[in-house]
Formats: sequence, C-alpha cells, structure tokens
Amino acid sequence: MSHRSGRHFLQIPGPTNVPDRVLRAIDHPTIDHRGPDFAELTRQILPGLRKVFKTAGPVVIYPASGTGAWEAALVNTLSPGDRVLMFETGHFAALWHEMAKRLGLEPEFISGDWRTGADPEAIGQRLREDTEGSVKAVCVVHNETSTGVTSRIGEIRKAIDNAGHPALLMVDTISSLASIDYRHDDWGVDVTVAGSQKGLMLPPGLSFNAISQKALKAAEGARLPRSYWDWRPILAANENGFFGYTPATNLLYGLREALAMLLEEGLDNVFARHQLHAAATRAAVEAWGLEVLASNPREYSGSLTAVVMPEGHDADAFRKTVLDRFDMSLGAGLGKLKGRVFRIGHLGDFNDLMLAGTLSGVEMGLSLAGVPHRKGGVQAAFDVLTGAGGSAAATADAGR
Ligand SMILES: *Cc1c(COP(=O)(O)O)cnc(C)c1O
Repeated sequence: MSHRSGRHFLQIPGPTNVPDRVLRAIDHPTIDHRGPDFAELTRQILPGLRKVFKTAGPVVIYPASGTGAWEAALVNTLSPGDRVLMFETGHFAALWHEMAKRLGLEPEFISGDWRTGADPEAIGQRLREDTEGSVKAVCVVHNETSTGVTSRIGEIRKAIDNAGHPALLMVDTISSLASIDYRHDDWGVDVTVAGSQKGLMLPPGLSFNAISQKALKAAEGARLPRSYWDWRPILAANENGFFGYTPATNLLYGLREALAMLLEEGLDNVFARHQLHAAATRAAVEAWGLEVLASNPREYSGSLTAVVMPEGHDADAFRKTVLDRFDMSLGAGLGKLKGRVFRIGHLGDFNDLMLAGTLSGVEMGLSLAGVPHRKGGVQAAFDVLTGAGGSAAATADAGR
C-alpha cells in the first residue's frame, strides 16, 4: 500500500471520525483501575453520561461493542421462553431478533419494509390483543442504521400506555445517541442500549445500558443466565467509582472528553447540526435525481442517509470507485440491501465543509462510475447549508 496524502474521509455511519481532542485524551498512561485517580475519573463521567441519555437513573458501561449491550439488556431483564415484541425496521433489528431467539426467548417480529420505522399503531394493536400479558418487552431500534430511518419512540411509548400494557420498553440508540434527540426518562424507556463509536465520537469498544427503576426491578426476578453482563455487581462497584472487572481505562479518558465536547456545544445544537446536514444531504440526493431509501419524511434520519442505486448499477462497485479515487469510505448496503444502496454517514464529529467534501466525492464518484444522475447535488446542499434553499431546508425540522 502506498501512502495517501491528506485525510481519509470516513463517511460510514459508524465508526465515525474521532476528533483530535478525544485522541489526545486517550493518549495517556493507563492508570490503576483500583486507585483513587480512577474513582475520580468514573465520578466525572457518570453524571455527564446521564445528561446525554437524559436520565436521572444509572448507566452501566461495558468494555464491549454495541452487540454486547444488546445482550445485556435482554439477559438482565428476561427469563427463558419470555415473549418479546420486536419490529423489523432493517438489518440491525433483524440481528437483535436473531440474538433474542438464540438466548432462548420467544421473539415476535412484526414485519416491515426496510423503508419505514417501527409502527406505533401495530405495536399498540398487538399489545391490546395480549390480554394475558404474555409479552414481556417491546424492543425497538431507534435509528435503523441499515436504512436511515428513525422510529418515533415517544409515540411508541404512548401506544404502549394506551394499550395499558406492562411490557418493558427497550431501545437501541447505538447510531442515534448524541446525534438525534433522545430522552430515556421522558419517553419512559426501561433499557437504552448505546455504543461508543457513532454519535459519541469515540473509537469502538464501549457500550452502555441506561436502566429504569422498572428494569432494575425486573432484573431481580429475571432467570436468563448472566454473569459478565450482570448489572448488579457493576452498579455496586460504580457506587465507589470502580468496576467489577478491568474497565477500558483509556477509552474512558476519551469518553470524559467526548462528553465535555457534547455538553460544551449543547445537545440541542448537536441535534440541529445533524438535522441540517441530513437535510443538505437529501437535497443533494434529490438534485442528483436519485432516491432516498427512507420513505416517510417524519422518519428521516439525522445521522445517515441511505441512497437507492438506479436499477442495473451496483452500489458496491460505486463505493469502490469512491474509495480508490477519493480515499472516502461510504457505508455498504446491509442484508437484503447489499449492492442496492449506499449509505452516507453524517454523524459525530462533522461540519459543513466535511459534508461538502463528502458530497463532492459522491457526485464525482457517480460520474466516474457511470451512474446516471443529474449535476448540481453539491450546489443544492450548499443552498441548504447557507439557508438559500427553500423546500429542502424546511425538511431539516421534519426528521427526528
Ligand atoms: C452499529 C450498530 C449496532 C452494532 O453495534 P456493534 O458495536 O457493531 O456491536 C447495533 N445496532 C445499531 C442500530 C447500530 O447502528
């Protein structure tokens, strides 16, 4: 491999670009995780972490990828054979569903079209039919990273309440936390699952469970086997600033810095920045004459945009052209979308000029790969970024 000058553009929807401040924070000697300095580090992190999840309750940190935190949510709260209601928003929902089956749960999968979010109506209806209360949990992916569709968690909460159903609500926010408005407490979520390598701007390697009082209570009676993922010893050790096993010390330095950056910018500003970049990206796609995969404007994702390839053109061949020529990584189509879509990640440590560079690479790549399109996508994005665009800018407020 020869040296490539300039910065690589990592525009997949996670892992995302790690800012220099976070890299510098990680670049420190590892300390004794049973010593006083470490306890102080934990005490600095946990309150900021609660602010980002918008919860007053506990947040558990695992040295694991997001998949580990999925497993933790299930094994801490459920028992063998428990019925779980899940919604097929896309590839990640399908993987979580598969995991639930392997763990010995009885997941029901409400089928979806991979272009829309979890339907509050369908969830409410299924729960109203469940008069004997056999469904123990509803599991939803907030931002489906394979499709660029954001489900409406507040409305799903209302649907569960209107059905008068006691099921726990568990939400995967791995690609939405710290990018798209999310409210663990306000939306009555029982377990929120998150990961470090997307909106939190860290390298891969940490994942999280934010836990409600109701979920803590469920954990007392849950009978799925759990050991490494068990919340209780971790929460007990956290009381004094420690962990039950060796934590990912250097990633925690990075987390402290990332939380500081998010709170300096202000979460509302972080969310607005993501919505603007998403709107500008959609304006570009529309100007190219291509199609955004998400079909409901109320569910457009703030963190990524999946673009449908014209019939007869392979998205992976296009992505290869962009990588070889411009040193930019775009997200692949996952599962049944393989080769049919490419995904533009616009989340994490990202700004207007990075987006302009990203969209320029896509527009030039479309030309080089011989994909039929119109010119002017980048210009349309500029108009949204500068407020000169009419209709597209208005949709910046629509997605959530
Ligand atoms: C990335 C992602 C995952 C998987 O997380 P890993 O860290 O790869 O284990 C799960 N769900 C969603 C929505 C994701 O975006």
